[in-house]
Amino acid sequence: MHTSSPLVIILLGAPGSGKGTQATLLKEQLNLPHISTGDLLRQHIRHKTTTGALAQQFIDQGQLVPDDLIMDMLFTRLQESDCAKGYILDGFPRTLPQAQKLETFLTALSIRPLVINLSLSDSIIIERLSLRVSCPQCGKPYHLLYAPPVKPHVCDSCSQTLTQRLDDSKEIVLKRLQVYQKQTAPLIDFYHNRNQLHAVDCSASKEEVFAKILSLL
Ligand code: AMP
Repeated sequence: MHTSSPLVIILLGAPGSGKGTQATLLKEQLNLPHISTGDLLRQHIRHKTTTGALAQQFIDQGQLVPDDLIMDMLFTRLQESDCAKGYILDGFPRTLPQAQKLETFLTALSIRPLVINLSLSDSIIIERLSLRVSCPQCGKPYHLLYAPPVKPHVCDSCSQTLTQRLDDSKEIVLKRLQVYQKQTAPLIDFYHNRNQLHAVDCSASKEEVFAKILSLL
């Protein structure tokens, strides 16, 4: 399935649309790194770094973390050797400046990304996120209905008690959806105008959505 040119997949979509789930499946299928800026930030927060401390206040309020901080973190990660063959971006870009910077970066490497927009109604998003939990230690995500842990409330990997992300509370989810509409939804036009956008309806099962994504590769 791979060509010699690196394969870069950008997963766009509102919070809770299934970007992380599909990125995990794609990572297994394509053997490419899954790079989630949200996961990178949560790792910084767990490790109590300066980046983590700066980011936390924005994340907790459902706001986007400033572009400079995100871009430094992301482009540092993209220099690592495992990214040479390509990668799956989940949660980046989220603003026009981020998309423009990424475009400059990829164009310099002659890489044309595959951009997939995962679309889902707000009501399903709210329902999905209210049942999402994760491990406070390793960050592994679960869904109490669709992807529960083997032992209730306990992480399969490190046996920690699972918790709900603070930013998955209903109040903050509503804020994140507003932020998405204002700052991230314009990226749909950005990529559509470049003939790079593929839309996938995410109300189907994760297996059906995955099959649709694979058919685009
Ligand atoms: P996620 O796990 O992708 O839902 O991201 C969780 C939170 O991290 C978001 O609500 C933002 O506060 C922050 N974040 C993640 N990615 C970005 C990004 N590309 N730009 C700005 N903030 C981000």
